[in-house]
Amino acid sequence: MKIIDGKLISTQLKEEIAKKVKHIVEKGKRPPHLAVIIVGEDGGSQVYVNNKIKACQLVGIKSTHIELPVETTENELLKRVYDLNNNTELDGFIVQLPLPKHINEQKIIEAISPEKDVDGFTPINIGKMVIGLDAYVPATPFGITELLRRYKIETAGKKVVVLGRSNIVGRPISILMSQKSDIGNATVTVCHSKTPDLMKITNQADILIAAIGVPEFVTADMVKKGVVIIDVGTTRVKSDQTKSGWKLKGDVKFDEVAEKAGLITPVPGGVGPMTIASLLYNTLLAYKKKQL
Ligand code: NAP
Repeated sequence: MKIIDGKLISTQLKEEIAKKVKHIVEKGKRPPHLAVIIVGEDGGSQVYVNNKIKACQLVGIKSTHIELPVETTENELLKRVYDLNNNTELDGFIVQLPLPKHINEQKIIEAISPEKDVDGFTPINIGKMVIGLDAYVPATPFGITELLRRYKIETAGKKVVVLGRSNIVGRPISILMSQKSDIGNATVTVCHSKTPDLMKITNQADILIAAIGVPEFVTADMVKKGVVIIDVGTTRVKSDQTKSGWKLKGDVKFDEVAEKAGLITPVPGGVGPMTIASLLYNTLLAYKKKQL
């Protein structure tokens, strides 16, 4: 078994982005600029946003952090989104999810200009991705394809099983893996909570991508020997071994599955670090597109 080291690959990706940003600034141009809107004080979201801002600083991307109170109305948030859409000094922005319950997330996502949608969540970007046009690929699926690419994992002709069909992970990664592209050309099966005989399906996978959010769901008897495991799941579970009182668990029972797998991503340190690096990549892409 070999570990797919997402920390290492994300560091490489960030170094490549930093080099490109340095080159831009050396030519006397402004650096790429990302804004992040967060509404309310959800603890997990605050941590994610702070990590995104820190990552921007690390690679030289300018960042603007917009914190709005939990009582912000849907119309007030829409106005902020329109302002950012029209801000010519801004290349991309994201609205951190989840939003407070009184705000319709889909309405907000659809208000984001597709040119600035570096999360790749707008219907226009998703539609473009589906038919293989140039689009911002959502960060986590992009991160997964980058891990597969950089570890030179063959996907053409392979059987890929994706557990989960969410709009941000399962659905887009299943589309990417079936596309006619270097990381793609696979035969893909998408499973969800209504899929019967799951074990029979997972046992056929050459590559298993688990994105369900159920800690340690995938056990050794569910996979065949030599399988490549991409574990997207990150669930906080209580732990008396850490200072914080919790730790992150993936969707895969790591110790026993690792013994059978050819390659496997750990949690933490696998897919997670790639997600932020991919957002930076999309921001640089948005900047470059604006310069054309
Ligand atoms: P989600 O929106 O809750 O979707 C979960 C999907 O898993 C659904 O399609 C659901 O089926 C399916 N599912 C749930 N239980 C199942 C079961 N027992 N058997 C088969 N399918 C099952 O989740 P998400 O947003 O995609 O996130 C999934 C996990 O990835 C979470 O742990 C999340 O924290 C993590 N995540 C990590 C990153 C990262 O950067 N590492 C990024 C995004 C998400 P139904 O559709 O039938 O309900």
